[in-house]
Amino acid sequence: MRVDGFNKRTGIFIITYHVLLPIALFWYFWNFTPSIAMMVTTFLLYVVTGLSITAGYHRYYSHTTYKTNPIVERVILFFGSMATQSSALRWAFEHRLHHAFVDTDRDPYSVKKGFWYAHILWLFKKPAPIDNKVVADLVKNPLVMFQHNHYLSCMLGSNIIGFLLVGWLLNDFVGAFVLSWWTRLFFLHHSTWFINSLAHTWGAHSFSKEQSAVDNYFISFLTFGEGYHNYHHAFANDYRNGIRWYHFDPTKWLIWTLSRLGLAHGLKRVHQYHVKERIMASQKEALLSKIQSSFVARKEELSEKVCYFYDTLANKISHARELIEKYTHSKKAKDQDNTRKLKGELKSVKRSIRADWRLYKEFVKSIFTLPPSPSSGV
Ligand SMILES: [Zn+2]
Ligand SMILES: [Zn+2]
Repeated sequence: MRVDGFNKRTGIFIITYHVLLPIALFWYFWNFTPSIAMMVTTFLLYVVTGLSITAGYHRYYSHTTYKTNPIVERVILFFGSMATQSSALRWAFEHRLHHAFVDTDRDPYSVKKGFWYAHILWLFKKPAPIDNKVVADLVKNPLVMFQHNHYLSCMLGSNIIGFLLVGWLLNDFVGAFVLSWWTRLFFLHHSTWFINSLAHTWGAHSFSKEQSAVDNYFISFLTFGEGYHNYHHAFANDYRNGIRWYHFDPTKWLIWTLSRLGLAHGLKRVHQYHVKERIMASQKEALLSKIQSSFVARKEELSEKVCYFYDTLANKISHARELIEKYTHSKKAKDQDNTRKLKGELKSVKRSIRADWRLYKEFVKSIFTLPPSPSSGV
């Protein structure tokens, strides 16, 4: 947790507001009672500024998982400035390094240097100069460069506008200052920082075991859907982090809604077969070692079953891919008979993959729910 080269501006800013905010809150609640409208407005500003980071800084600028227009970009940059987490250019630069060098010394907020380093202490360290090669696409974007070159004015300006507007609308400038500005900022900062600390510590390695990122439903509630972080590190170019419809991922829902309204397009999604292959690859070793440690008599039979599942599903998935390719060509060539035939074939292969996947999941569950004792095998 060593902090080299103190970043005076950011460090003093964070320490000062963390010290002053509890005093201000105590004084505020001692003297005033906030209106429901003030609490709702503060929450809404928290959500809007939070989503500008997750859908904007993160999934749009850092990973380019979708395309949008300059008006949406201006909205992202305005509320992103209000979120007070540096410019989109610097944020994306550091985040791209985080993905490229996760858990190493070159990861700017590596959790290997400690939970608190990844959460907040890395911000106290002097930032590395931005290498334009890492953000070559963004340095060509005039809106991003404008925000970067005038970041302090953008950050102060957006927050002052927000504070004055809320104060004027609700006729409560004290509440607007203490709650909708500084309390909102406190929760928003820690919510974003949780992605670097908690989402690299507490949860499941569902897709990739080789790095520290984890999937955690609870963290997703705190971070606008960014808690499915293991998936995100495995498939960073997917606009979704929670891939199931029931996963709590408001950032994904926002991007999808923008696409329905014609404000976003080219949403990138990883194909479900690719995801299945990754799940199987990450489980195979653990599955075989669990069989070795928990079974006596059926060790070989169960190990063979593992290989059977892997071979069968791999073959069927590659067959489905071939059919999808043929189907697309046939559709383009307007060969209706062949398209119909391929559609039927594809449907039955997909059905068969679904059935095998269900059996595979039941099998995995039955193996992993056994206690890790050599005597439990039959
Ligand atoms: Zn991460
Ligand atoms: Zn990311």
